[in-house]
Amino acid sequence: MSRLTATASCTAYAAVVEASGEVVAQALVVRRVAWLTALAREVTARLVVARWNAADLDALGSGVGLDGRVLPSKGWMALRRLGWVVSPPSGVRVCDRVLRCAQEQAARLLRLALHRRRLVAAIVATWPHDPGAHTGAEWEALRALLPDGVSAADIRNRTRQVRAYLDEHGAFPADLTELEEPPNVAAQVVLAAADRQLLTLERTGPRSARLRVRLPLVEFPASSRDWAWHVLPFALPPTVPAEAALCAPTVRVVKGRVRVDLPFQIPVGFAPATGHRVGCGFDWGLNGLLTGVAGRLADGRVISDGRPLIYDASGVSAKLHRLRGEREHLAAKHRHLEKLLAAITPADPRYLALSTAWQRIGVEHERLCARIRNLNKALTWSAARWAVDQAAAAGATVIYVEDLATLEARGRRGSANARLSGQVRGRIIEAIRHLAAKHAIAVVTVAARGTSRYCPRCGEGTSVLKHCPAPDRLAERGWRWAYCPACGLSCDRDWAAAERIVSRGLLGQHTTRTHRSTGVRTIHAIVEGNVARARPTRKPTRAARRARRTRTDLHPRPAARDRAKRRPTPKRPTRAPASPRNNSMTSSRVPDRRTVPAPPLTGGGQRPAGHAPKPGRHQPYRTGHVRNSHHRTGFHHAKATPVLTFIEHGNSPGQATPIRVT
Ligand SMILES: [Zn+2]
Repeated sequence: MSRLTATASCTAYAAVVEASGEVVAQALVVRRVAWLTALAREVTARLVVARWNAADLDALGSGVGLDGRVLPSKGWMALRRLGWVVSPPSGVRVCDRVLRCAQEQAARLLRLALHRRRLVAAIVATWPHDPGAHTGAEWEALRALLPDGVSAADIRNRTRQVRAYLDEHGAFPADLTELEEPPNVAAQVVLAAADRQLLTLERTGPRSARLRVRLPLVEFPASSRDWAWHVLPFALPPTVPAEAALCAPTVRVVKGRVRVDLPFQIPVGFAPATGHRVGCGFDWGLNGLLTGVAGRLADGRVISDGRPLIYDASGVSAKLHRLRGEREHLAAKHRHLEKLLAAITPADPRYLALSTAWQRIGVEHERLCARIRNLNKALTWSAARWAVDQAAAAGATVIYVEDLATLEARGRRGSANARLSGQVRGRIIEAIRHLAAKHAIAVVTVAARGTSRYCPRCGEGTSVLKHCPAPDRLAERGWRWAYCPACGLSCDRDWAAAERIVSRGLLGQHTTRTHRSTGVRTIHAIVEGNVARARPTRKPTRAARRARRTRTDLHPRPAARDRAKRRPTPKRPTRAPASPRNNSMTSSRVPDRRTVPAPPLTGGGQRPAGHAPKPGRHQPYRTGHVRNSHHRTGFHHAKATPVLTFIEHGNSPGQATPIRVT
């Protein structure tokens, strides 16, 4: 058993002063919490600015305190061990626990900066000949210096930042502190660093909890009489199960409400790194956001059930792309107005109109940013939920996804799914890890190199796939469809890639490595093997068994209705042409199904089942899709393979048909 930590957002609407029993209305509680967060923020900001230099970051990064002992993992204790004392603003009396909370927040910000610093140092040390395009050797050198799990998007963004500095100053930044200003400090109190002298937390029911915290009664408390214990009852969202252990929250003021960010821990089963028989592999696709396949390991071979699992978010990512464009547009407008405002004085007659427009656009920009954030978040959790549901329904004990660190930009840039940023993908992996942990399903990243280049069916990873626009245009160059000239495999390119991922994972699982501190599992070694597609054998149905037992036909022809038929069926009267215009209609026979000849096959391609219209430029072939499926995606415009679980035939006769997991 291990523990999984999640955070629930709760809101406290009112409070009671413990000593007097006085009920404090929302507006006043918000003010008192705001005073506390402002105090903590001021102390944190002073500390961060004072330590924003190379020597102090070195000291924190060395991990050894003044006394020569290793620094503790708790941030506030580490800072105290380094001798970085803080004091409250002059004339203000705060208890030591408030200072602890401020130090904890400062330590978290500085430790995050240490990570960015390592990134920047590695990028500067291995600065490429052409910053736009690293060569293979340059990537190798950079990767050797970087910590594990840094995505390509992170590297690109930091490289751009260093390049901008280089263009401006003509030299590399000596340290992160030259490249960046000290980080902004949020107005919040990290109560995780406090103890019973500042807060207590207890659960009062299945859906409620009570936070007891000391709040200042005035903006600048001068003595301990200006502090009082407040009891803040709040409701727990249904995502917090009854067995969850609640942890000390972080408190802040959001939109006139007291927001309690409450971490909680739930026990989850242990997911081993090896010994998996059934797994799901997911590919970051071009045709769909995620394309997966379930694979089974049998006698050292990987067998898939031949059912592609596709989550297509083209509609959502197109919308995100449009919103991002609008955001850039508004930001440019905002900057322009700012420049205009800076050039005139408030006495100028144009000042009022300009400043009003500037404020309005600022608000619009903020709302648009929030919209993008919310949509990204919704997409992330929807895709992750779908992927984990598919794995659970397939009986998989492991999910293999492509390692974002080795994922290269590929395919057509215009594809809506390819446009989704690496950041969103990183969040989806995080969400998959979180949700999979609840089902005790392991999540392992595998190397992405060459997953869509080689055939999953033949050659053990040597026969190169051809990519073409559609199955009936195999001679043309494209990117949507994969075709293997060696074995004739013809399928969606993402499906082929997903099969290679699940095979790399299942065959290479003995080389899985678990990161010591983060617990992230990775397979670096590439073990190639072919994937066979086979439906699991099914027991004969009851009708088939009866037909065999009674030696009758399983599909008997209906008995002839009229056995007394003696004469041939008379001809129907031919309809006379009603008008000369109708002359051409000589027969009322239903025309043949196919009125035009089928397109000639130019190779081994085969149309997917169903009667899909002939694909045009904007209407490509899709396989495995259920159109208009809103099944568990939460989006009207996301198309995803529904989650079905197949009950073994014979074991439970009452449920012999596929059921939908809800
Ligand atoms: Zn092949």
